[in-house]
Amino acid sequence: MKKLVIVFAFFLLAGCLPQANRITQTSTIDALLSGIYDGQTSCRQMLTYGDFGIGTFDKLDGEMAILNGKIYQIKSDGKVYAPSSDIKTPFATVCKFIPDSQFELKTVNFKTAESIIDEKFPNQNQFLAIKITGTFKHIKLRSVPAQKKPYPPLVEVSKTQPVFEMNDVFGTIVGFRTPPFAKGVNVTGCHFHFLSKDFTQGGHVLDFKLADGNCQIDKCNEWLLILPKNDLLQNIDLSKDKTTELRKVEK
Ligand SMILES: [Zn+2]
Repeated sequence: MKKLVIVFAFFLLAGCLPQANRITQTSTIDALLSGIYDGQTSCRQMLTYGDFGIGTFDKLDGEMAILNGKIYQIKSDGKVYAPSSDIKTPFATVCKFIPDSQFELKTVNFKTAESIIDEKFPNQNQFLAIKITGTFKHIKLRSVPAQKKPYPPLVEVSKTQPVFEMNDVFGTIVGFRTPPFAKGVNVTGCHFHFLSKDFTQGGHVLDFKLADGNCQIDKCNEWLLILPKNDLLQNIDLSKDKTTELRKVEK
């Protein structure tokens, strides 16, 4: 009987552990673009799906970066906060980060780093979790301020987004390369957030110049999508192509 209980407890626990090679996301990028900023999934729950990731918070209150199982909130003042695990997120993507390979990156910017990654990982129909650690000669970041109802669409918010630029900073880029077929559901291509080594500064990465660093890649072949249990997405039309809006918001 005791053995049975132990075996049962093991499977129960295993069921709660994050799966390797699985990307888990809550809601969709087009829902966020449409102004669905009310949080649906708690930070605590997101951490059951992974220890690495990016996203935003309830009411669009800043950028989220998850590194080594800890969630960081970069608010519109550019500073990094430790959010309560009860705070909910309207959009986030996580995974259990177990790198399959790593390589050095020297004197690259966002574009050249992206092409090096594409060259090394030419299968565009595969999700990649990407971690770049190193010294950044320059990095351009942004965050977003918390919004009030009625929520404006993201493209309106991003017109007045605070932008931060830093020179000679050591830190880590956390992010994903998402396949083109996931258009409308997640941000296709590379989407990066940044945290300085001392966890005082960060944000959504607009551009960077990396002096010297290391890139780790985790290839992921499973994709779990969590949609809100309530009818939050009921009254929005998610059938339209929002590529132009997304480009304005991300870059
Ligand atoms: Zn972002």
